[in-house]
Amino acid sequence: MKKRRIHTGHLLIAVLVLLAMLGGAVYYLQQLTVKKPVIAVDAGHDDTYPGYEGYVREADYTLGVAEQLYRMLDQDSRFEAVMVRSAGESLTVRERAARIEAAHADIVISIHANASSDPGFSGMRIAVRPADEDSRILADAAAQRFADAGWACPVGYEYYVPVREGVNEVVFTEEAGEGQGPAIMEACEAPMIIFEGIYVTSPEDTQHWTGDDGYAEAADLLYQAVKGVYGK
Ligand SMILES: [Zn+2]
Repeated sequence: MKKRRIHTGHLLIAVLVLLAMLGGAVYYLQQLTVKKPVIAVDAGHDDTYPGYEGYVREADYTLGVAEQLYRMLDQDSRFEAVMVRSAGESLTVRERAARIEAAHADIVISIHANASSDPGFSGMRIAVRPADEDSRILADAAAQRFADAGWACPVGYEYYVPVREGVNEVVFTEEAGEGQGPAIMEACEAPMIIFEGIYVTSPEDTQHWTGDDGYAEAADLLYQAVKGVYGK
């Protein structure tokens, strides 16, 4: 009799251990199969294509914000963060687009800046692709975060309009129209927002939004917007 009781106890423990292991395995498999939203962070310029020059190079600004945003997303287990190009890499628009497509990005956040011959021009904006619901939702969420922090950040569409032979001007409009959009937006189909965080020619913008603190402040507001939309 004594012997049998001990065996029953062992059996019960063995069953419980097995159940716990099974539960663990099921949980592990669920974690493997639940697809996390893929957020691609695109530093819109590099040393070969540095973009606008001003108090800061557009390439340096875009990398500064992109690296901070990537770090925040990468540390958040809810997201699969992808850095389209890293420091020191030079990629054509077509190569960046290929990486974005290969990553099957759910959304791309492409970081850029503006420039003007007038140093008084300042401010930020977000461009989206016409009729792209996903990008509009994230753009509006980001604009709201910036607005809550006291910064106007309109959302709209951008078109490149030839002003004279070989020279295009960017037109930002809140009405969707027809025309050549930003290069990276034309080169891939993934939902995308283009965040233009500063005028590189504005002393005011560059003073506030460049350097580690400035980059981190912009990156954090973008990260908060991603969490609000994709962090379910
Ligand atoms: Zn740019």
